[in-house]
Amino acid sequence: MIRFEDLLEKVRAYSPDADVELLRRAYVFSAFEHRGQVRHSGEPYLIHPLAVADFLADMKLDVVAIAAGLLHDVVEDTLTTIERIQELFGPDVAHVVEGVTKISAIQFLSSEERQAENFRKMLLAMVDDVRVILVKLADRLHNMRTLSHLPEDRRVKIAQETRDIYAPIANRLGMSKVKNELEELSFRYLEPQAYEALRAKVDAKRRATEGLIEELKTTITAKLREAQVPVIEIDGRIKRLWSIHEKLRRQKIEIEQVYDFIALRIVTAAVKDCYAALGIIHQTWSPVPGRIKDFIAMPRPNGYQSLHTSVISDQGMPFEVQIRTIEMHRMAEEGIAAHWKYKEGRVGDQRDERYFQWMRQLLEYQQEFRDPQEFIQNLKVELYPEEVYTFTPKGLVKALPRGATPVDFAYAIHTDVGHQCVGARVNGKMVPLRTRLKNGDIIEIVSVTGHKPSRDWLNFVVTSRARNKIKHLIHSEEKARAIELGRKLFEKDARRYDLNARTLVEGEAFAKVLADFGVTKADDLFASIGYGKLASKQLLAWLNPGAALHEKTDGAVAAAVKRVFGTGEEKIKVKGFDDLMVFRARCCNPIRGEKIVGYITRGKGVSVHSATCPNVVNLLYDPERRIEVEWDKSAAATEASRYPVKLTMEVENRKGLLAAVSTKIADINTNIKNIEARTDEDQRARIDMTVEITDVKHLEKVIKSLRGVAGVIGVERAGRAG
Ligand code: MN
Repeated sequence: MIRFEDLLEKVRAYSPDADVELLRRAYVFSAFEHRGQVRHSGEPYLIHPLAVADFLADMKLDVVAIAAGLLHDVVEDTLTTIERIQELFGPDVAHVVEGVTKISAIQFLSSEERQAENFRKMLLAMVDDVRVILVKLADRLHNMRTLSHLPEDRRVKIAQETRDIYAPIANRLGMSKVKNELEELSFRYLEPQAYEALRAKVDAKRRATEGLIEELKTTITAKLREAQVPVIEIDGRIKRLWSIHEKLRRQKIEIEQVYDFIALRIVTAAVKDCYAALGIIHQTWSPVPGRIKDFIAMPRPNGYQSLHTSVISDQGMPFEVQIRTIEMHRMAEEGIAAHWKYKEGRVGDQRDERYFQWMRQLLEYQQEFRDPQEFIQNLKVELYPEEVYTFTPKGLVKALPRGATPVDFAYAIHTDVGHQCVGARVNGKMVPLRTRLKNGDIIEIVSVTGHKPSRDWLNFVVTSRARNKIKHLIHSEEKARAIELGRKLFEKDARRYDLNARTLVEGEAFAKVLADFGVTKADDLFASIGYGKLASKQLLAWLNPGAALHEKTDGAVAAAVKRVFGTGEEKIKVKGFDDLMVFRARCCNPIRGEKIVGYITRGKGVSVHSATCPNVVNLLYDPERRIEVEWDKSAAATEASRYPVKLTMEVENRKGLLAAVSTKIADINTNIKNIEARTDEDQRARIDMTVEITDVKHLEKVIKSLRGVAGVIGVERAGRAG
């Protein structure tokens, strides 16, 4: 039983000007608040906070940490509020107590490794003051030491949580002494039979081994003294049961085959002494190949530094030797706690600089600090700054990137939960879906069956999982609509041409078209139609090779249909086909009413020439490609349309003739698009102009009128050599 006065003595020993009054008030307050409460052991409850505070004093922590240790269960187990703690003990103590209370309130539910890892990360992310974790670890350590008083189910639950969460956290923070004890105790309560069996075996060896350990220590001490290597301490021990157990299981071996069943530790003053000692050990005994590890040059991720080697004793017994400096040793035992130690006027000394450098690495903390004290004061344990840790209502932890929203959370649960998400409650309150989540938030997703994600969500989700799922669904929705539209167009056109859509889809020709397109389903073709990449009429034509499609409908409808299919030239119709691309050939630019002929071109549709076009007359085209075309006489096509026609005039070179020609053209309601006059050497002139002509009759009228203008010698349509 720890006495409070002894605790004060312990604190005063390393911190003469410590505020012992604060500790005394904390102790009295805790004793008062916990009065009447008893532990499962039957002892007064106060024993527990006192033990926690004592452990923190062993780590030489400051009075804030120790006061928080004394008060750590007051808010959780009594009616006291955190505000009251702040009033009485100040913001620092209150902050640490609040942090410990928050962590203790979290239920750890699954020992599945990924959940455990998330949970550990979350605990560390929630902590913004190292002392919170240190108090929590001290609390857990005392509870584990007194676990035997609890009923079995509670024992197992607490031991499991300790093994999965708190021992790894202690390890991560470099606190191997705490980690080792937590692991050892977890082993004892989680696997009591294996633990007892192993303990019996180790105990049987202990007597013989202890003699050997003493012998080895004596030999090493003598050898090192002889070589004048200064040594602070040599320690020998049998390895911990948990680490022997792990080794036996991992390597599937018996206890006799365990190499480093015995471990010796040499603590020196300086790094060079470590290497000197290693050399002497290797001269004295044969090293086991492959067992030498230099963690001084290559520290472990948690900052651990030491030299390890295994050698074989004269009796043939292998043993492990660890060699490190006193500083490395303290770091290895206490880890992060070593940085929190009370200091008297040692701020900024060289050794601290090195510690803090290590600490910066450990915490992946980039910010620059001018002196270590400032660093300590500003320390936030941002071990995983890129993530937030959130809970399902059932208490599972979901790790999400910082900035994640309830939508990201919903997709992390399940794709359907994401799709059907319509709202979210965070810590019991409805929030907008774009709300950024915080550590420790409990999120409940409100979903509605059949609800679809909004494209808008893409503006705020941060996880690639949510982004991809939303995009995927939106695309498949769009595709479904395209298939629907394509199918309707196909069916409508099939009816128009008196074909049965169903029969066509089931027919051989359809299978062939599918194969040609490299697709397997009719829907894929319909999607192409729906996206506008393929005309349904085109598909119908392929399905009826060689046969012309005949419309059931009359001419007026046909004209409308033609517009839908968008032929190149709506005023010209290819006999028997409505939707072939038709265009007027540039060489002759036929106008409405002219005799025309069509030629099928490769890839561009039907080119339409004037029957008098020199290219046609001179048989430049293959007669087999000739196709019959006609001017469309349907209502839609008779609306006035104008074709630019180039005319060339030969005129006398006299003044006012150009004006006379222009006036004449205007008199017969014809637009001139372009007019140009030039003089020849022989007193004659030429006028080239482009006029807008509706049809052949109009053109004839224009030419006749121009020929009637005085001074005009001749008029010809340009580009027509014949
Ligand atoms: Mn406690």
